[in-house]
Amino acid sequence: MAKSPALSSGGIELTQETMIDMMKPKGKFYGVRGSFVIGDTKIGGHTTCHTLQFGRKLIVFDFGSGMIDIGNELTKRYLMPGKTIKDIDAFMNQFLGAGNDPKNLGLALLESGYINQDEELDLTFMSSHVHGDHLFGAQAFKPIFSPKTNIHMIGGLHCGMNIHEVMEQFNFRPPVFPVPWKFLGSKRTLQVINPNEHFEIENDFQPIKVWVLPMNHPNGSYGYRFEWCGHTIAVTLDHEHGHDEYDRNIVRLWEGADIVVTEVQYTAGMYDTRKGYGHITAEAAAKHAIEAKPKRIITTHHDPDADYDTVQEIARTIERKSRIQTTFAVQGMVF
Ligand SMILES: [Zn+2]
Ligand SMILES: [Zn+2]
Repeated sequence: MAKSPALSSGGIELTQETMIDMMKPKGKFYGVRGSFVIGDTKIGGHTTCHTLQFGRKLIVFDFGSGMIDIGNELTKRYLMPGKTIKDIDAFMNQFLGAGNDPKNLGLALLESGYINQDEELDLTFMSSHVHGDHLFGAQAFKPIFSPKTNIHMIGGLHCGMNIHEVMEQFNFRPPVFPVPWKFLGSKRTLQVINPNEHFEIENDFQPIKVWVLPMNHPNGSYGYRFEWCGHTIAVTLDHEHGHDEYDRNIVRLWEGADIVVTEVQYTAGMYDTRKGYGHITAEAAAKHAIEAKPKRIITTHHDPDADYDTVQEIARTIERKSRIQTTFAVQGMVF
């Protein structure tokens, strides 16, 4: 039977407290940088990727390089006793290095004895858009190679291409990557979303209600609002202020949310030379927040040139101007 990767009730007594806790959405940041990977260890250098956990439903949001660490965490749970991530790495490198046909990699992994045959991994991937900093972690996400992984991908169209087409053409295609998309071991399904769409994701207790709105960004980007068990989370990555219709969309997505996870890449000074790059300033984010009145804001997708003090100053500026609790995401932080 397919098994959700997180929160097993096995061994945990389901008291009222644990039930209430399970019905509270959670998340973890695996990549908090925008634009490019950097070597920073204080805030983190991986590009943008975080999880959203609604009960037992795990959603991986965007596929920046932070996704590599999620893949390793998940793979660990499906390894046979005594096997390590290093074993899997060595096996894959040896298999491809020996000139084997990449289309047999999935089956070979299964037959390697490293993966527990009885476990299946059900994942939902959601995508804001497909710029490289939100995309290329998928190549090193180990569960994507395993026949024991089922991945449901949800995302919009960008320049007329859906997320599967983008992955096939840019991520998993020789000579950029040795294993073509169609030879990945995982089973993958697709849901293409439209601007302004409302849809539901099946889940325990009740379906997750999702609302999608387009945001102002080169080549297009989508913001999401999730409602589940009385809790609301908005996720708005990669958007620029100053366009009335799109500004309204941000406010609609943030409206009264318990948590807003949003990019805020620039100070006013940084923005002076970066207009049109598709990212928002702390001042503009504060303006949206005053209108939308969310309960809490977490900034992410930090500029690769922004040091700790700058990232902190951006969050402090939003909090000072909007009087809404604002923190900045650090790689590994949970919420
Ligand atoms: Zn980005
Ligand atoms: Zn972008």
